[in-house]
Amino acid sequence: MQTLNRRQFLKLAGIASALAALPRAVGAATTPARVVVVGGGFGGATAAKYIRMWGGNVQVTLVDTNANHISCILSNLVLTGALPMSRITLGYNALKANYGITVVQGRAVGIDGAGNTVTVSTAGGNQVLSYDHLVLSPGIDFIAPPAGTWDANLTPHAWQAGPQTTLLQTQLAAMRNGDTFVMTVPKSPYRCPPGPYERACVVADYLKTKKRTGAKVIVLDANASIQAEPIAFGNAFNVTHAGVIEYVPNATVQSVDSASRSIVTSARTVNNAKVLNYIPNQKAGAIAAGLTPNGFVSVNPLTYGVAAYPNIHVIGDACAVPASDGKAVPKSGHMANSQAKVCADAIVRALAGEAPDQNVATNSACYSPITATTSSWLSANYNYGDIYDAAGVVKGKGMHRVDLGEADKVTSGNYNDMFTWANSLFADSFV
Ligand SMILES: Cc1cc2nc3c(=O)[nH]c(=O)nc-3n(C[C@H](O)[C@H](O)[C@H](O)COP(=O)(O)OP(=O)(O)OC[C@H]3O[C@@H](n4cnc5c(N)ncnc54)[C@H](O)[C@@H]3O)c2cc1C
Repeated sequence: MQTLNRRQFLKLAGIASALAALPRAVGAATTPARVVVVGGGFGGATAAKYIRMWGGNVQVTLVDTNANHISCILSNLVLTGALPMSRITLGYNALKANYGITVVQGRAVGIDGAGNTVTVSTAGGNQVLSYDHLVLSPGIDFIAPPAGTWDANLTPHAWQAGPQTTLLQTQLAAMRNGDTFVMTVPKSPYRCPPGPYERACVVADYLKTKKRTGAKVIVLDANASIQAEPIAFGNAFNVTHAGVIEYVPNATVQSVDSASRSIVTSARTVNNAKVLNYIPNQKAGAIAAGLTPNGFVSVNPLTYGVAAYPNIHVIGDACAVPASDGKAVPKSGHMANSQAKVCADAIVRALAGEAPDQNVATNSACYSPITATTSSWLSANYNYGDIYDAAGVVKGKGMHRVDLGEADKVTSGNYNDMFTWANSLFADSFV
């Protein structure tokens, strides 16, 4: 594994893609093309912005259920009270004012792929929006546990930020000496591979800072091992937070009873936890469910189009893009932003009658606080190309992972850089 220094990483993590220097106008058409984007998170907001920036005479309508997007990125620090909710609340006014994007608040409830329309349920009734291209970036949905009575209003996942974050924050703040915070790590692939381990660390750090003697964090991981930054998190669990975090691998969830905050897994049963942060297994957001038989939506990584309807594009956490390391590319906000630009460029080219660019690259970065003042980081970069099976034989096209970088140390410098990186990503997506 290649370890990058901070300078190299910041260069790699630079949000402004080289593509940004290549505006292209769809000038010839007199009737503007119509692009509808469903989901105003990191993928959808970026796609809407860049299609307007690069596309010229294109009408872009962005649809989101909520008036603002609450970012999952940095939300573990809202959980511990280190940041206010306002720090992760991202509005759409700049997208409207700076790029002329029409924003509709409502839930997309149906797609007519043959008729090129999407139906949106709004406070004022249903609206049917026609499109030439439809971009879906609805994020994730949850898969219920096999048995039990699961209620996220009692045992919050906080894996979609907002009221769930506030609920878990309140439950954490109510913990006292000797109490147990039990959390699960979903089966891969899931949103933000390092995110659950990061949460275990900041919760442990919070309990120590608040002097909750004997309080513990039990991490029930459905996977066989830590899914991201195993050295940094292994050290955090065994050294930095030794005696507070207990890590249990191969813990497949069998049932959840939210009322009693009890959970049964293949490796451990815990009854009556003080807090049960059950983060369920995941699939594509519901509006994309019709495009995939299970899990996440397969797309062409040159356009993010789906095979059945090439003018319907799925980006961000909802899509599945195979990579040369045998895993799908990671589900992160940084990756959603990166995929959105590739998708925007492909749509603008398609509207101008051009083929998609073959020379595309995407990248991902995550910063992981380990304590209230220190952080680690992880980055990965991908180029489009051949991907191989275990025997080294070409098995098709996908994203070739060109490097994977990890912080060599957990430092306060990384913690400060995290805010520079997040500010840059937030601005590139929403301003
Ligand atoms: C604790 C935590 C920490 C994280 N840390 C990082 C990090 O350090 N770096 C990083 O890059 N990523 C991080 N992530 C992951 C990141 O948040 C996601 O990968 C990213 O948000 C995915 O973007 P998206 O556009 O696919 O979905 P989202 O950002 O979730 O956006 C989906 C949007 O679609 C809307 N929507 C859904 N369905 C509909 C519908 N039918 N109609 C209308 N609107 C709809 C939702 O309201 C939402 O606004 C973290 C995640 C968590 C949980």
